[in-house]
Order: sequence, then C-alpha cells, then structure tokens
Amino acid sequence: MSTKNEHHHTVPLSVLLKRELMSEKIENPDIVHGQAGQSKKGEDFTLLKSDCQRMVGDGVYTYSVYGLFDGHNGSAAAIYSKENLLNNILSAIPPDLNRDEWLAALPRAMVAGFVKTDKDFAEKGQKSGTTVTFVIIEGWVVTVASVGDSRCVLESSEGGIYYLSADHRLETNEEERVRITSSGGEVGRLNTGGGAEVGPLRCWPGGLCLSRSIGDMDIGEFVVPVPYVKQVKLSTGGGRLVICSDGVWDALAAEVALDCCRGMSAESSAPQIVKEAIQAKGLRDDTTCIVVDILPQEKPPAPAPPPKKPVKGMLKAMFRKKSSESSSIDKEYLEPDVVVELYEEGSAMLSERLETKYPLCNMFKLFICAVCQVEIKPGEGISVHEGADNPRKVRPWDGPFLCFSCQEKKEAMEGKRASDRNSSGSDE
Ligand SMILES: [Zn+2]
Repeated sequence: MSTKNEHHHTVPLSVLLKRELMSEKIENPDIVHGQAGQSKKGEDFTLLKSDCQRMVGDGVYTYSVYGLFDGHNGSAAAIYSKENLLNNILSAIPPDLNRDEWLAALPRAMVAGFVKTDKDFAEKGQKSGTTVTFVIIEGWVVTVASVGDSRCVLESSEGGIYYLSADHRLETNEEERVRITSSGGEVGRLNTGGGAEVGPLRCWPGGLCLSRSIGDMDIGEFVVPVPYVKQVKLSTGGGRLVICSDGVWDALAAEVALDCCRGMSAESSAPQIVKEAIQAKGLRDDTTCIVVDILPQEKPPAPAPPPKKPVKGMLKAMFRKKSSESSSIDKEYLEPDVVVELYEEGSAMLSERLETKYPLCNMFKLFICAVCQVEIKPGEGISVHEGADNPRKVRPWDGPFLCFSCQEKKEAMEGKRASDRNSSGSDE
C-alpha cells in the first residue's frame, strides 16, 4: 500500500476503519456484573461470560454474554441450553462481519440458535423445559432474546425503565393464547374434576403455563422456542440491567427491584434484590438475579487531547456515529432521547424472523440451513416461505432455506403438521 499523505482526501479505507475501531475501543463501556440466587428446586442456571473476543481482520471486538435459564420438570433443558445456546447463536452469524453488520445479524442468529438448541435437545428424548433470557452486550448495544417468564429490565443512566424481554405466560399474553389455539392447542385452567377450574391458564395437552420455552418435547410443538428479541443502544451514560427469574419478579415490581439497591455496586445489588424478594414472599421458587452495570469508562484526567486532524467530511459521511470531534460529542450530550431502539420482534413465525428483507445479501448462504447450519444439497433446500399464505411478494424459491428436518419443525410449530409429539396425552 502506498503511504499517501493523510491530509488529502485519499485516506485508505483500511486506515479509516482502523481509526474507527480504535476510537470505538476507547469509547467502549466497562461491564461489571454480580449474581446471586436462592435455590428451592435447583432448576435455575446462569451463564456469565464477560470479555468474549471476536477477531475481524486486524481488529479485536469484545462482547459480554449473560444467560438465565429457569428449568421446569427437571433441569436437563436448562443445563443443555446453558452449554449449547451461545455456540448455536454464534455459528448462525456469517464470519468476517464488521461491527455494525454483526450487531444487525444478531437478532436473526438468536432465533436460529434458540430453534436449533430446542431441536437438538429434542433428539435427546428428555422431558424437561426451560425459560431463557439471553443477553449479549457489544459496546453500547444490548441485545436480549427471551422465551418464558424470566425478565430483563434496563434502567438507563437517565432514569428511564425499559422492558427488554417478553412475558410468555399464557395468563397475561393474549396474543400467544390466540396463536396457540389457532395452531391447534388448547388453553384453559386446571379442571379439578368437579367442574371447578383453578390456577393460571395453561396449554393443553401438557398443562404448561408458558407459551414459549426451550425443551418441553412432551407438551406440544406450539410451545415454541422462537424468542422475542429486542435490541437497544444506550447513551454513553450507560445503564443497569437486572435479569431475574420469576422467583424475583413474582415478588417485586421492576421499580422496587431497582430502588432497593440504588447506589450499590452490581456485586452487592444482586444479593440485595434476592434478599428483598424473599423477604416479600418467602422462598417459594428458585430466586435468581444477575445485575449488569454498563458504565462509562473512567477516563484518566485528560491532558489536553492532541488536536485531531480533521478528515474532511469523509469520516463523518461514512460513519454517522460519533466521531471524536468535540462538536458531535456536545451534540450527543444534548440529545434528550438517549436509549435508541434498534430492533424489536416477537413473531413466532420463522418466515417472519429469518426473512430476506435484510441489509446483508449473504446473511444466509444459499445452501446452508438457516436454522441448524447444515449444508443442503442443491435442490433439497426448502424456502422458509414455502407454503406461506401471506400476501407479501415472496416466492418459494427465495431464501433463506431450511433443511428438511428444520422445515418439519417449522410446520409443526405453526400447527401445519400433526407430530407424534402432541398426538398422545390428550385427556379429552
Ligand atoms: Zn436445518
């Protein structure tokens, strides 16, 4: 490469990218976490991985991963998900993506990873299920995928409270009740025999009170593993995430959980929240809490920074994100709307979650299954839109494609295929 003078407009792209990378690196937040739990059934599990690294070209990106798995009917599905889900998500992201592309690919990859984990677990033939709240933090961007009723709450440094996970309890989620009944499941309360109905709404056969989970092979395929996904970008003021199982949320409102540990470190906040929950309702369920603080890096008292050579227009035009120029920093601090929503989708339909409308044309390679990533022989791939009755202009030969086995899973989840899973156990 020639060493062109940087004062000209012809700064090589690689130099610009490297600069952007370096300035992002400096601007990355500090991530600090704490966790605590009190066990009743021993079915809550957590995954805490900070400083995961991803190499792209000469750059190293770091990200952190937090998972909470609240098992039911044993802990097999929770343990299996804890051990496999992250890999299944990462393997659904094409290699060599830059930072923005990687973040944009994450919501789809989480859907693929959740479905693959559920499908693989089914092959083990164990009867067990789990809720999952799965959080990936990269820079100031927080991406949360969830099934079930564990929850992730964000409080921004400006004091706003944001719910980053869905509540997949049949009792409170009408949309999910409609989805389950229209795909052939039944929703109702436990019938004690004398005609009296008790307890929360449940899905029959099986009697699970959740509409989404990983595992639960014995329940029926309309209890699906397709996660609700929400992605937000925090301001450089950061924020706090509180990720808890229902043992906490059944006892404490989000505001109470956040208030009871205000001003405390993440490490001491998690046990404080668990203590508060148990004081309120007693230890009635596994009660687990992860607190993650996303903090502005403590900058050493800045010696007057060397004046940056402005790269006329170009850097700004290419990256509409913050540059280190003082004017844009000022602007950022002045902007009142600080948590930016980048993505939100909760549909249970794979055709809507793995769709082609996507900035990366090679997000899903033509001959790789979009869910399980196996190679598909030419002509054997089935478009995720196959059989779609939606009016959108999708053609059955448009990708992404599924292998035969994942297509079977998709149809079963949508109630279009009678599976051996739900043909037994009905007590009508
Ligand atoms: Zn597949």
